[in-house]
Amino acid sequence: MPMADANPLPLLGQGKKGLRIHDLVKAPANTPWAKAKQQSWDASEPATVYTTPEVLADGTPCSAVTVILRTKGCHWWWSSGCTFCGYFNDTRDDVTNDDLHAQWAAAKAKFDDFKDQAMVKVYTSGSLLEDREIPVAFQETVLRDCAELGKELIVESRCEQLTEEKLSWATSINNTFTVAIGLEAYDDEVLRFHVNKGFSTSSWDRAVANLQKFNLRIKTYLMFKPPFMNEADALDHCVKWIGAVAEQSDEISVNPMNIQRGTVIDRLHRHNEYRPPWLWSLVDMIRRAHPLIHPKGGVNGDDDQVSRLIVHPTAGGKIRGSHNCGSCDAEVVAAIERYAVSGSLLEFEGLTCDCETVWQNEVMLERQLPVPLGLSKPRRGSVVNRLRSP
Ligand code: SF4
Ligand SMILES: [Zn+2]
Repeated sequence: MPMADANPLPLLGQGKKGLRIHDLVKAPANTPWAKAKQQSWDASEPATVYTTPEVLADGTPCSAVTVILRTKGCHWWWSSGCTFCGYFNDTRDDVTNDDLHAQWAAAKAKFDDFKDQAMVKVYTSGSLLEDREIPVAFQETVLRDCAELGKELIVESRCEQLTEEKLSWATSINNTFTVAIGLEAYDDEVLRFHVNKGFSTSSWDRAVANLQKFNLRIKTYLMFKPPFMNEADALDHCVKWIGAVAEQSDEISVNPMNIQRGTVIDRLHRHNEYRPPWLWSLVDMIRRAHPLIHPKGGVNGDDDQVSRLIVHPTAGGKIRGSHNCGSCDAEVVAAIERYAVSGSLLEFEGLTCDCETVWQNEVMLERQLPVPLGLSKPRRGSVVNRLRSP
């Protein structure tokens, strides 16, 4: 047998189909710890149900309930998966229609049919309107219950499910819900090579046109600092993407990268090749994006508001989430979260720390020496590996 055939990894130039990222990195989902975790939970109980303060579409403050269901997960993950997505940790492939109905009933029972919550967010670690993931009967239950209870409903979806046919069916049951789409980046190269998203900006454009046809509200998630991107690029790109999607989005939620177990980004992080975003970058991003959201310098609720910009640093201040030096983190996270409610740049007034200079220098150096993994200490990788690969 020639050498090439004995090698299980097809290399470039061998005339064979190359391996997909998926073949190389999906393994963590099948490791004993992941399997044990997946089997450990009760399929008739939702993953989590909790309430948070929110604002309704018309700006009225309210209490919102978030229901995170245990599902089969995301069909894109089954065949490939996004580079940062750790949702597989919470899914199990044997969830039935009855299980989902039991989980939903448990969530409603816990909060007395959501009597004190005007808004209901239903998250499925995938797309609620995807028939391969969620039985149609259950999609219908969620849509109908929220319509009958008079709740503002938010569901998550990828783009390809949002066809005219599907939306015309869904709106025949519930005609005023919001669809949150994990677009991550308004840039086809970033979607393909950094995120491995499996759809393009034009599929988002099509989905948005369909949602507008049915008068549904649109929430767009953007990812701050996907893998293989330095801090300066993350900052500049994210401001650009906010500008590109603001007109069409009722809300833009920027998710600063946080490291979830068993993902591509987890590997990079463990190898010291990725540093989660600085909180200072998020503050700078908000300052630069604010004029795109409020062209006349207003705050949330003012007439000049194009969209609503929300930044919620998950695991903010922790090593696996956005962080600064450790001593100013809590204060900066709090200011960022206050901005999501008020839309006022005054939240950042007077915020300062010695580490701001370190951040500034890093970003400045990265603009002058554009290296994809960045220049900061936690991203320099192993010295031995760098010496080995000239
Ligand atoms: S589309 Fe969403 S749920 Fe699916 S793999 Fe990507 S991030 Fe995860
Ligand atoms: Zn600091």
